[in-house]
Amino acid sequence: MEQDVMLQSIFAEANIGIIIVNEQGKIIKANPFVEKLFGYEPNELIDVQLEELLPQSLRAKHVAYRKNYQENPMPRVMGSNLELFGQKKDDSQFHVEISLSYTKFEGQVYAIAYISDNTKPKELWNELKENKKRLLEYSTHLEERVQERTKELRVSELQLKKALENEKELGVLKSKFVSLASHEFRTPLTAILSSANLVEKYKKEEQQDKREKHLNRISNSVKHLTTLLNDFLSLEKIETGKISCHPVELDWNEFMMNLTEEMQTIGKENQKIIYKHLGEKQVTVDESLLKNILINLISNGLKYSDVGACVEVSSKNQNGTLSIEVKDEGIGIPVEEQKHLFTQFFRAKNVEGIQGTGLGLTIVKRYLNLMNGNIRFVSEQGKGSTFFIEIPLST
Ligand code: ADP
Repeated sequence: MEQDVMLQSIFAEANIGIIIVNEQGKIIKANPFVEKLFGYEPNELIDVQLEELLPQSLRAKHVAYRKNYQENPMPRVMGSNLELFGQKKDDSQFHVEISLSYTKFEGQVYAIAYISDNTKPKELWNELKENKKRLLEYSTHLEERVQERTKELRVSELQLKKALENEKELGVLKSKFVSLASHEFRTPLTAILSSANLVEKYKKEEQQDKREKHLNRISNSVKHLTTLLNDFLSLEKIETGKISCHPVELDWNEFMMNLTEEMQTIGKENQKIIYKHLGEKQVTVDESLLKNILINLISNGLKYSDVGACVEVSSKNQNGTLSIEVKDEGIGIPVEEQKHLFTQFFRAKNVEGIQGTGLGLTIVKRYLNLMNGNIRFVSEQGKGSTFFIEIPLST
């Protein structure tokens, strides 16, 4: 009995509001603290529906929550950062903090709510709301950043892969160069050495023609070595991206006259270069790239033709395109080998005994790529070849 009195007094003196609710949601007990908190007279809350202590807008939802709790009761807090509202008898509203527990008695579940005043200054609530908003923004931003970074990483991974592939290709090309260079250089160097030894032996006056023959061989071999070296260097420069296209305005006629005159000197006996042009004579192109292209094509025309043959260079400036044809009456290219013509180091089988590196046309093609131009050819063995190039002109 004494214990009952003690419990009664704890209930009555508790510094927190205590409400006990039956399964129908009716208040069966409320301590003085909660009566005062909600502005009710002593015992006035008995038999009142619990939802009356909530703002009108939350009541319907709360009925469902309450039923759910009574079906699966367990002690828990209703959330301290959430804005929970209570409604006083005079209809004013205030923030509350609630903990829940329950007790079972004679087969009934009784929910117990521990309620305290959670009125915080308005600024605190605003700050809470603001922090929540910022947190949300930050997490969205974070997610976007993660996606961006992932994308960036993927791009750099691809770039890295490409750079590695390029590096690998360059490596392969370089070792190909080195083995070819050592092979290609050995032949003319051996020729130079043996001719130099022989020259030394032909000491007699009447052996002048023999000496001349070997001196000639030496000078040809040196010329060949120079071409070989230049071709290697040009290709290496293209491969490593050291060459780019810089168009300048030039007088096409003057450019071609000088070039054909220069080329004429390397031709065989009675070989002739004929040049003709159609259309506007002012053109804007990369002079040095174009000069290299034409030197390669014209020198091939001369080299692979007999003495006394003609190489015709016809150009046309029309609709913003410079078209050039280089036509010879030389040995031509065997049909079955034509498909390999632009492959590095390729030389057709009918050119044995004629000096060359098999790099000239590769260089021509690369230069034309830099100028956005193109090249094609027609050829018949024993009759001759014609190379056609087209270059879009800069304005
Ligand atoms: P190179 O002339 O130094 O061997 P190129 O790359 O200029 O190298 O030419 C590759 C090959 O194409 C030549 O070796 C030759 O077989 C063939 N070729 C090129 N131009 C002509 C041409 N005008 N007439 C006949 N064959 C040619």
